Amino acid sequence: MGRVGVDIYPLQHRVPLEEVRTFEKFLGGSATNVTVAAARHGRRTAVITRTGDDAFGRYVHRELRRLGVDDVFVSAVDGPPTPVTFCEVFPPDDFPLWFYRYPTAPDLMIEPNTLPLNAIREATIFWATVTGLSQEPSRAAHHAAWDARGRRAHTVLDLDYRPMFWADPAAARREVDAALDHVTVAVGNREECEVATGETDADRAADALLARGLDLAVVKRGPAGVLAATPDERVDLPAFPVEVLNGLGAGDAFGGALCHGLLAEWPLARTLRFANVAGAIVASRLECSTAMPTTDEVDAASSRGRVA
Ligand code: ADP
Repeated sequence: MGRVGVDIYPLQHRVPLEEVRTFEKFLGGSATNVTVAAARHGRRTAVITRTGDDAFGRYVHRELRRLGVDDVFVSAVDGPPTPVTFCEVFPPDDFPLWFYRYPTAPDLMIEPNTLPLNAIREATIFWATVTGLSQEPSRAAHHAAWDARGRRAHTVLDLDYRPMFWADPAAARREVDAALDHVTVAVGNREECEVATGETDADRAADALLARGLDLAVVKRGPAGVLAATPDERVDLPAFPVEVLNGLGAGDAFGGALCHGLLAEWPLARTLRFANVAGAIVASRLECSTAMPTTDEVDAASSRGRVA
């Protein structure tokens, strides 16, 4: 449940946006990308979100179906257009993003009384993101969804903190704090875990998340790899070797792969290795949604020991 939009990504790299001549459009939005990533591993997925009543909204439906994600819980709202997102590509580690979500985003207009509560209850994994808590009525809808689930495994909170959607980090921290009572897994990058817990160190951030009663806390560290902790076990992996083109979407690939490992009930180390490779593969590609690797691609890269 969460963000959807159209990514308009530049075909010229290492130049600022004003010098870009051509772009390509892709399905985008973090929560949506995660459903695509899990679908690539053969999982049945659906996304709960809203688009504008426009051409890009129709494109979202078409792409979701093409990429194997159920679009039955995607509908259009009156008013704001389907958002678009631009980025700049400065490998290996600078990928500024510009969200055009004006005057607001349809995906933040999900009303609690329109939720598919049976599907939310029955889903083997329910994934939601902190961005969905940044505004009403979406915030109330997220709490209604969590009430329906009753903190059942696996209920995942993607800490997905985007400063431009919040007045300040403290406002986001308050919402994360309230949300952590309702979820069983939290996943975030270093900055997001710091906003959520106040801790800059990955181990301490994981400890602070686990102290909230979670089954699993994951701290993604980009080129520094990833740390995952449960109450009984801790796995710390270096990054998988890759030549980075665009790091955007790596976390979503990681998320979809993490869901696959959780559903397969793999040991934590295996799940983390798999997700780590999936993230690295997307970091080697320009786009996000259509870049999500299949299980075979992840396995092939793992055996080679590098992303091709
Ligand atoms: P997010 O995309 O959510 O900000 P990260 O940038 O930490 O999160 O990336 C998510 C995961 O993708 C990392 O934990 C790692 O597994 C993989 N990844 C990201 N960047 C790189 C990189 N430069 N080299 C190798 N793996 C990467």
